[in-house]
Amino acid sequence: MAALKSKIVVVPLGEVDFMMVNRLAADLGPVFNRSVDILKGMKLPEEAKNVIRGQYYAVVIMAKLERIKANAREKVIGVCEDDLYLPDKNTIIGYSDALAGTAVVSLWHLRQEFYGLPENDSKIYPRLYKESLHQLVHLFNISECRNPKCVNYFSNEMLDIDNKGKSFCDICKRKMVKLV
Ligand SMILES: [Zn+2]
Repeated sequence: MAALKSKIVVVPLGEVDFMMVNRLAADLGPVFNRSVDILKGMKLPEEAKNVIRGQYYAVVIMAKLERIKANAREKVIGVCEDDLYLPDKNTIIGYSDALAGTAVVSLWHLRQEFYGLPENDSKIYPRLYKESLHQLVHLFNISECRNPKCVNYFSNEMLDIDNKGKSFCDICKRKMVKLV
């Protein structure tokens, strides 16, 4: 049975804090009861860069991530430091495509310095963890939660991310049990 389980692959995109990526990979595995690989860093695709906006187009990045999948079951999550956007969103923290099995999370807004506050790793990592977990949950076809304390709560703002917990609510927990 184990061989049929989908692997999770974490891809550092561009220059990303490797310690943080490492920690993320180690923490995500047990939650989904999947093995997690960290791929050798991938450069952010030049064609995804919008020079005028100073941002990267998430759709192009997602397409690149989909191409590195070893099989259809694999779930790939990219982590980058740069600011991302979508056609209908000026900026995004994370994004996932359940059909493709890919997700991307940007540390851009998760970093304290974005808000003019001194950078604090103890705050950044929990945000990265919660946002990555939330996006990955989508890849396993579990919809987002309406409980603001649940890690699977849709968080559009930093305050929502900071306020939600690191674990699942009872409803999501039950869905996760079926999954793992
Ligand atoms: Zn929940």
